[in-house]
Amino acid sequence: MSTANALQFTPTRTAALESMAAFVPHMGRDYASRRNYDLRANGHAGVSRLSPYIRHRLLSEQEVLTAALSRFSLSSAEKFVQEVYWRTYWKGWLEMRPGVWSQYREGLRAARDKLATQSGMRADWEAACRGETGIDCFDAWANELSTTGYLHNHARMWFASIWIFTLRLPWELGADLFLRQLLDGDPASNTLGWRWVAGIQTPGKTYLARADNIARYTEGRFNPVGQLASTADPVDAPIVPQRGPAPAGETPDPARATGWLLTEEDMLASFTPLPSAPPNAAPPAFVLDCTANRSPLAVAPLVTRFVKGALDDAISRHQNRFGSITHAERKPVAEQVLEWAKREGITQIAMPFVPVGAASDEISTLKPKLDAANIRLVPFMRPYDAECWPHATHGFFKFKENIPKFVAGLKGVHSI
Ligand SMILES: Cc1cc2nc3c(=O)[nH]c(=O)nc-3n(C[C@H](O)[C@H](O)[C@H](O)COP(=O)(O)OP(=O)(O)OC[C@H]3O[C@@H](n4cnc5c(N)ncnc54)[C@H](O)[C@@H]3O)c2cc1C
Repeated sequence: MSTANALQFTPTRTAALESMAAFVPHMGRDYASRRNYDLRANGHAGVSRLSPYIRHRLLSEQEVLTAALSRFSLSSAEKFVQEVYWRTYWKGWLEMRPGVWSQYREGLRAARDKLATQSGMRADWEAACRGETGIDCFDAWANELSTTGYLHNHARMWFASIWIFTLRLPWELGADLFLRQLLDGDPASNTLGWRWVAGIQTPGKTYLARADNIARYTEGRFNPVGQLASTADPVDAPIVPQRGPAPAGETPDPARATGWLLTEEDMLASFTPLPSAPPNAAPPAFVLDCTANRSPLAVAPLVTRFVKGALDDAISRHQNRFGSITHAERKPVAEQVLEWAKREGITQIAMPFVPVGAASDEISTLKPKLDAANIRLVPFMRPYDAECWPHATHGFFKFKENIPKFVAGLKGVHSI
């Protein structure tokens, strides 16, 4: 089971495009009627399973939305389109409140300290991670997560709710388990998804998993009557830092010798207008994979293999665009990037914008060293992100009022 399921997420752009093409006919009313069902036996055919690709931008949100809207009207594909914009909304929300990511990391540190001193909690956490709690549905999802790297959205909601309100474990430890094991593990969707279930993101509004809801949407596969918490009090959390501005991209200086930094955050480097004419016909590239930094614990091999495969695929797809390729091999990475830049005579490093999360934490250690060496770091911002993210000021319901305007501009923005 594990191997077969793992193989369905082949980490290549070709596989991503094939998966998207196969799901396009279902992005309309089919999706609206089937999306809530967690049916592992049919391979979750009611949902797209595109998230590992979208998360690493082997597919862009824009491509997926354009595919949906080339086949269906906005009203027919409304549900699917809205889900894709949920992802965009979470990203924009976190970009303007990066302190919430730091709060999560701090909360995780505190929760791990408790594991070191409270043996009861440690035993419960280990049982939950291994899927040995005795709650059938939860244990099955823990197993599915660790063997496939994927969980259906409804299962993620139920799992998080049971973790927090039935097992009474710190939400940060659950978010960490997801980040270590999900192929699509994403700082924004994951952190804010867990906060939402815990009643932190929408203050006071928790998500309580109920046996009848689970029985209905798993078509009777599970029916955990009497096993789940019957109440869900919101979890305490620090105050959200004040919202800052949405990030802006920068423009490279055509006179500077340019290198390229490729991370796991955006594997469609070809979206950028990096000059392809001499003297930078084929700029050298440095590949920085920060997947291991998603967690203080070991990230699942399934995840690291997926990301490595996707980066290899990105490099081979961009063969004509990049010159020499250097991989980050050792810590501290910042020194290695600096050595590479000096060796290659680079005074400017271009990269697709790196959103808040493990990779941007790494980049922030690099930036002062580059500044000191007078090497510019130039993040390219996708027009799609630049347009949408600043609207994540309040809740999703306000954000989604902009969807008709966003989709009207999709084709004009850029092809990928
Ligand atoms: C506790 C919790 C943790 C989560 N962690 C992650 C995570 O680490 N990474 C991640 O990509 N998503 C996360 N999600 C969101 C969502 O569960 C997944 O994006 C979705 O299940 C992916 O499966 P799919 O591609 O088959 O989705 P589909 O239903 O086919 O949706 C299409 C696309 O829309 C986006 N999308 C759908 N639902 C959501 C949502 N609720 N929030 C944000 N984007 C959405 C995804 O990009 C997805 O690929 C989390 C949700 C919860 C409740």
